[in-house]
Amino acid sequence: MPTYIVLLGPPGAGKGTQAKVLAEKFNLPHISSGDIFRENIKNGTELGKLANTYISQGELVPDDVTIAMIRERFSRSDCVNGAILDGFPRTPAQADALCEMLKEFDGRVNLVPFITAPVEVLIERLAGRWTCRTCGRVYHERFNPPKQHGICDADGGDLYQREDDKAETVVHRIEVYQKQTAPLIDYYKERGVLAEINGFAPIEEVSAQLMAAMKH
Ligand code: ADP
Ligand code: AMP
Repeated sequence: MPTYIVLLGPPGAGKGTQAKVLAEKFNLPHISSGDIFRENIKNGTELGKLANTYISQGELVPDDVTIAMIRERFSRSDCVNGAILDGFPRTPAQADALCEMLKEFDGRVNLVPFITAPVEVLIERLAGRWTCRTCGRVYHERFNPPKQHGICDADGGDLYQREDDKAETVVHRIEVYQKQTAPLIDYYKERGVLAEINGFAPIEEVSAQLMAAMKH
């Protein structure tokens, strides 16, 4: 049976950080909708141009565009055994679409770790986040610094600060999360797959909580 894990939580909760850990541990692809959008922006595609008008404002990219992009990603063969989803779904309509997509693989969402941390912690994390331009791995200038300033430990890529991590946009992104994405907490609770994870703990402790949730 394939294993599909959806990491749910506000911006800065640690989804991307933990997704990398889970993907390596379980040898599953890490599918980050934000990374796919950023790749398209970097390559100047039509999708990238459209997505950037929303991303730069801290708004969600429309459901139809996002769902089509994820459907295309799922059409690749590496997803048949499962995936670690990070940043998708972000609305109930996206969650319904995901459920339909997974039926094609005889799969379903097996577990939804819901990672939380207080708002002031999220803001501090995003203000100090540095992202690798090539692999999307994230660092924090204080909580998780790279070995060498400005350089990714994993592949030597350049680290940069995301445009949408500036203070004004971050506050708006958290509001957007609360309005549009938080309803997914009850959505997945009702389906019996939600696992609450305390994200306000060191990275290794959050990983340990996730590993424990995976065993249930
Ligand atoms: P998300 O994908 O949920 O937006 P990230 O994984 O990108 O969150 O993490 C946001 C920032 O917080 C990054 O700079 C990351 O290094 C840092 N971070 C992630 N988890 C923790 C943690 N448990 N403690 C401290 N900093 C963390
Ligand atoms: P992230 O990398 O997850 O922080 O996402 C960065 C930005 O990409 C978000 O603020 C949204 O503008 C956009 N985005 C990422 N995933 C989605 C999604 N599932 N639905 C709509 N917009 C998304």
